[in-house]
Order: sequence, then C-alpha cells, then structure tokens
Amino acid sequence: MKNIKYVGTRNKSITATASEAILKGICDDGGLFIPEEFPVLDKSLEELSTLSYQDLAYEVLKLFLTDFTEEELRYCINSAYDSKFDTPEIAPLVKKADVGILELFHGRTIAFKDMALSILPYLMKTAAKKNGMDKEIVILTATSGDTGKAALEGFANVEGIRIMVFFPEDGVSPVQKLQMTTQEGANTAVIGIKGNFDDAQTAVKTIFTDKELAKDLEEKGFVFSSANSINIGRLVPQVVYYFKAYIEMVKLGEVKMGEEINVTVPTGNFGNILAGYFAKKMGLPVKTFICASNENKVLYDFFNTGVYDKNRSFAVTTSPSMDILISSNLERLLCMKSDQSATKTLMESLNKEGKYTLDLTKGDIKGEYATEAETAAAIKEMYEKAGYVLDTHTAVAYASYEKYKAKTGDNTPAVIVSTASPYKFTKDVLVSIDKKYEDKDFFSLMGELEKISGVEIPAPIKGIENRPILHNTVIEKDSIKDFVKEHLTK
Ligand SMILES: *Cc1c(COP(=O)(O)O)cnc(C)c1O
Repeated sequence: MKNIKYVGTRNKSITATASEAILKGICDDGGLFIPEEFPVLDKSLEELSTLSYQDLAYEVLKLFLTDFTEEELRYCINSAYDSKFDTPEIAPLVKKADVGILELFHGRTIAFKDMALSILPYLMKTAAKKNGMDKEIVILTATSGDTGKAALEGFANVEGIRIMVFFPEDGVSPVQKLQMTTQEGANTAVIGIKGNFDDAQTAVKTIFTDKELAKDLEEKGFVFSSANSINIGRLVPQVVYYFKAYIEMVKLGEVKMGEEINVTVPTGNFGNILAGYFAKKMGLPVKTFICASNENKVLYDFFNTGVYDKNRSFAVTTSPSMDILISSNLERLLCMKSDQSATKTLMESLNKEGKYTLDLTKGDIKGEYATEAETAAAIKEMYEKAGYVLDTHTAVAYASYEKYKAKTGDNTPAVIVSTASPYKFTKDVLVSIDKKYEDKDFFSLMGELEKISGVEIPAPIKGIENRPILHNTVIEKDSIKDFVKEHLTK
C-alpha cells in the first residue's frame, strides 16, 4: 500500500504524516492539509459491497491514514461505529419518491457530524500516542449548531483532552442549544458568543495561527487542535458513506454496478461534499455533485460565475448549519483544481477583499440553492408523495436537486445526502407541512411529529427540555481569545 503524505494548501513544502496532520488540525500558515496524491481502491466495488460498515470503513481509512496500523484503525473504527448508532447499518439508504436518501443521522446527536466526530477522538488519541505527545490537547471548536454537540459527545471525559465549543448565541435551534448547554463532562466548556458562525470560526482560526499564544500555552502544557472539518481526521471518515450509498443504490436496483449516480449534498463549510469528491477521485462512479445552498448562496454563485464573494448580508435561515459565508473546505478544492501558490493568492484576496475568482463553472460540481419558501415546499412535497419527513437541511438539498433536474433534464439516478433528523428542527418541519402547528411550542410538537411520521422520538433528545443547564456563559465575539487564555490553567 502506498504511503500517503499530507501537504499544505498554501505551501507544498509544509508536509505531515496522517497522524501529524490529525494532531495539528491546520498548517502553521493557516492552510489546510490535503493528501499529496489520492489513493485508489485496492478492492473492487463488488468486493466492497459484501462488507459491514466497519469493514468498509477500514478499507477506505487504511488508504488515507497510512501511518496507522491495522490494529489501531480497527480499534478506532470499532469503538466509534457501535451501538451508539441506533441501527447496525450505521448509514442506511432509503428510496423515497424519486431519490435515494442517505440517512446520516443515526448517531448520538442525530446529525451527520456524528459520522466523523465519533471516530475523531480515537484517531486523535492514537495519533498523540504515536507521536509521543506529552501535552494536554485542547480542542477549540466553532459551531453553527451540530458540530459542537457532536464534538462534545465525542470528546467528553476523554482523558488528556479538553474541549471548548463556541456557538452563535442567537443562531442555533432550541434543540441544538439545549443539546450543548446540558452537556456533561468536566473537560467540556460551552460558550455562546454575540455574533454569527463566521465570527466564531474566524476567531478560532486566528487562535490556531497565533504563535505567541501557542508558545505561552505550550509552556503551561497545552496544545491546540481542531475538531472542525478543517481537520483531515474529520474528512476521511466521511468518504466511507459515499461508497455505502453507491453500494445500496446498486442493491436497490437503481443502478448497475459501475454505472454513474448523481449526489446532492446540503452544504455549509464544504466538508461533506468534499469527502464525496474524494470518493470520486478514488474511483467511485459519480457523474455530478450538486452543491446545495440555502439563501446564503455564496457557493451557488461561485459555481455558476467563478466569483466567490462573501460581501453580502448574512441570512438566518431554517437550515442554520448551512448559514455560512466562508466555506473553509473549499480551499482544499481550490488547491486540487489549481496549485499551492494560486491558492495562497486566492486566500489572501479572500482575507483582504472578501472575494476571489477561479472559474470552476464547467466542472463536475454544480451549484444550486433553495429559498426558504422552496425549502418548506420540498418538505411538504416529500411528505405528500412518500409520507417521509425531511429535515430542513435535507429539504434544501431535495429542492436544489429538483431545480437542477428541471434545468438540465439530467435524470441520472440520484442520492440526496440527509444530514439531520427532522426532530432537530421539529417546528420548522411541521409548519412546512401544515400551518396549524404555528402556535404550538417546540417541545410539544415532538409528539405530533412522531404521530405523522411514524418515526419514534430519538432517544438522545427525548426529555431534553427537562435536563439541567450546565453551561450559560455568553461572551462578546472579540473576547474569544482572552477567554481561551484565561481558562487554560492547570
Ligand atoms: C454541518 C451540517 C451541514 C453542512 O455540512 P458541511 O460539511 O459544513 O458542508 C449540513 N447539514 C447539517 C444538518 C449539518 O449539521
């Protein structure tokens, strides 16, 4: 098997092994790690189609994380993908109306972030041991709602690691907020900030590249790392379920082995869809990826015009995990499509002017978007057609896919990546189906959703409104660094 080296997106002489890249999270110059070259599968899709999720994960992970032993990888995989998920399939695919829906919300926080964040702590601990790390690792995480909780669940009570999560105080759903503020674990800190997700993400990224702060904390015995999708240890586990989706489409008879599918991904930070793109690079037969945005349609504009421009007003939508104007992982695609020096220039331009130009309008990733009204209509349409309730993010993807299909006439068998359970956004989902739910309170509506969908309230959020609030700190967006400094003492 070929040894895979990781290089920086802004400077290719910054290199790391997989375990080093996982520990560091981000390059010292602010760039991200990407594989220097892409591995190709050493098994056929037919061979992969007989494997369990865990064995499939091993076949994919071993190709990317080449300095981990088989024993280490299998330990990480088996610890992550176990009965924490409410189905042994881990990521089931169901056929509803005209599409296959890949359900990535069967983990502990009922959103797709569990797919990667249930394994990242194990990968990180293993990487720390491998590299003789003697410092306490501090995970800093900015969240638009789902990453925070999934990271807290993954890292709570993990020895040798502390975790701090920053979320926009007014930018997450009631369930998302409660999920985070009721988090247990002495090594956890959850902090609301007065600002939006981009403010939190920018502040956290600045801390990662602050050499003075890093030195200061190193003396105190701490080292930073990231659980955001800028960490390659988040991306690689996400590649696995694209293979699973394809295999299930074949099993359902939607495509013959080897024929192409289209995949639509509800996108924010561009991590999920990029993992799918990695799968394609490895040989998965995907014709087109449809990158679906909500009204914060920076990516739609980019893929249609070649101009990425974040200078616009930020919309708070019913799909908050996609309310993002700076999609960090796009940097990796830019580098794959150009090179390090071009990427460095583009990122400098993004920093200074808030925009840059690179023409990817003719590539195999197409941009679409859905307005709030189109998103609500998609939820209603799917419910009426198939009795199936989409969450708001998945509905953005479904609406975007239908628009893409109508525009292009492309009828390639399609997978919609479903990133959250509708229970995470109960009220918006129900009101989309019937206005009569408008005046009801959020938590009483869970029972209503159970009735109309026939899907039980997921155990992790049952009774969440009665759990004690353990975190109630709210700070200004400019004080994130000071907060971090003050709180890291032994
Ligand atoms: C994080 C998230 C997204 C966006 O995924 P990215 O990898 O950031 O593009 C979409 N939907 C849900 C529910 C999420 O939690």
